[in-house]
Amino acid sequence: VGPVLRADLSRLVGGEHVHEVPPESPYNRDAGKRAGVQGRAEAVVLPGSAEEVRAVVAWCYEHDVAIVPRGGGTGMMGGAVAVHGGVVISLERMRRVRELEPALWRMLVEAGLPTSEVKRLARENGLMFAPDPGASEQSQIGGNVATNAGGPHALKYGVTGAWVASLEVVLAPGELVHVGGWAAKDVAGYDLRSLLIGSEGTLGVITAVGLRLLPAPETAHASIVLLSDRERGCEAMRALPAAGLRPSVLDFLDGETLAIMAGSYPLPQQQPPPGAGFALILEFDGERETVSTERRTANELLGQLDGVLRVDDATDPDALWRWRDGANGVVTAQRGAKISEDVVFPVERLAEGLARFEEIASRQGLQSCAWGHGGEGNVHATVLVDPQAQDELARAAQVGEELFALVVKLGGSVAGEHGVGYLKRGRLAAQWDGPAVELHEGIKRLFDPKGLMNPGKKLAR
Ligand SMILES: Cc1cc2nc3c(=O)[nH]c(=O)nc-3n(C[C@H](O)[C@H](O)[C@H](O)COP(=O)(O)OP(=O)(O)OC[C@H]3O[C@@H](n4cnc5c(N)ncnc54)[C@H](O)[C@@H]3O)c2cc1C
Repeated sequence: VGPVLRADLSRLVGGEHVHEVPPESPYNRDAGKRAGVQGRAEAVVLPGSAEEVRAVVAWCYEHDVAIVPRGGGTGMMGGAVAVHGGVVISLERMRRVRELEPALWRMLVEAGLPTSEVKRLARENGLMFAPDPGASEQSQIGGNVATNAGGPHALKYGVTGAWVASLEVVLAPGELVHVGGWAAKDVAGYDLRSLLIGSEGTLGVITAVGLRLLPAPETAHASIVLLSDRERGCEAMRALPAAGLRPSVLDFLDGETLAIMAGSYPLPQQQPPPGAGFALILEFDGERETVSTERRTANELLGQLDGVLRVDDATDPDALWRWRDGANGVVTAQRGAKISEDVVFPVERLAEGLARFEEIASRQGLQSCAWGHGGEGNVHATVLVDPQAQDELARAAQVGEELFALVVKLGGSVAGEHGVGYLKRGRLAAQWDGPAVELHEGIKRLFDPKGLMNPGKKLAR
């Protein structure tokens, strides 16, 4: 099959842009290290234009070959991995800026443009592209849209989808379609744009994205708030917005994570004070005067709350963010591996969710820790494991099962920012009502009657 398929595809995009994919190729993996989803793609195709993507999709659809869209491969859920074979369509050559209109706060770019480039272009024009998922040097804007990626600033600015005005997308059986546009208001049809955002390559291949931008904030100020314990930490996270404050970031580290990371505390000559069992990373951004007022109000409020031990202003914000972004690596290094699930609790049940997660892990005899975007209840719930100890891995899997059940019971979500991909397939059915799940599946059938668009991914059940 392989050579014939590759010869046909070569006629569409040029032989130099069609490659074999040996099992160990990076195109057969993504960034999800732990469960290591292995692909078995028959070819990777690197189209240079939307028309070439259209031709490849049309060829695959006609020949019953699975299509797996791929961005930067930084996903952690196996979404970009061809688990059922087929053709990987990598967007990496499609990185043109088709339109950049600083005065209108917008740009239209091809899907393969790295996220960091989108942010840089905006910055160089005095603007800001607000979404800030990690891995932005490698991830692509198309991948961000396909996973509806978020980051610390999603609290104030929303996730990627909030900034997408339009999409150019190739749908089965090989149609180039435009949805949305620059009209600032548009209620004319069903919101197909939103349907495609976060669809993880299961409804179509995104080839270009119209993005809205914002004027860059004049300044930003971050601090670390150190508290005695989880309950007080979660109370403080609720108290800030309740007082009318609108932080740009409100992240947290629980006591275990703080203890693990205390050695590299990012503020000079300081360590968390004795008794610190929870930390918040708090940032305000905007006009200088407003930020200064917000900081003052927040500090006054925090000063009155029980359990607040200290507020450390970040004299070097870059060091703070490096410290925060290093959590993954430092936590992994504790026991050689970690199993981390991206879940969401309603903010008012965050303390309960974190406490019950810790109980679940300790019942299985595993050390756990958690950190994340507390302002949105988005938690990276983590257990530390020895990667060689099979029994620990089995117990960690059981922790995951109980965690997902807990999340649903408390009214949260089984996926906050890393998508569903292959690894979380089937989990949505526990969260949604039966008829909603059927609608989910009906939409998939409508877009993809042959089931060839990224098969096995984002399955509701
Ligand atoms: C260190 C690290 C930090 C991370 N931090 C964050 C974070 O803060 N927030 C967050 O949300 N995620 C985060 N992630 C996860 C990941 O970076 C995001 O999901 C990102 O949006 C994936 O983009 P990508 O271009 O790498 O897509 P890929 O990994 O290549 O693909 C992801 C999914 O999107 C689909 N897809 C990709 N491109 C297209 C396209 N053009 N058309 C249709 N479907 C497409 C794929 O089929 C797949 O299902 C992190 C990952 C790492 C490794």
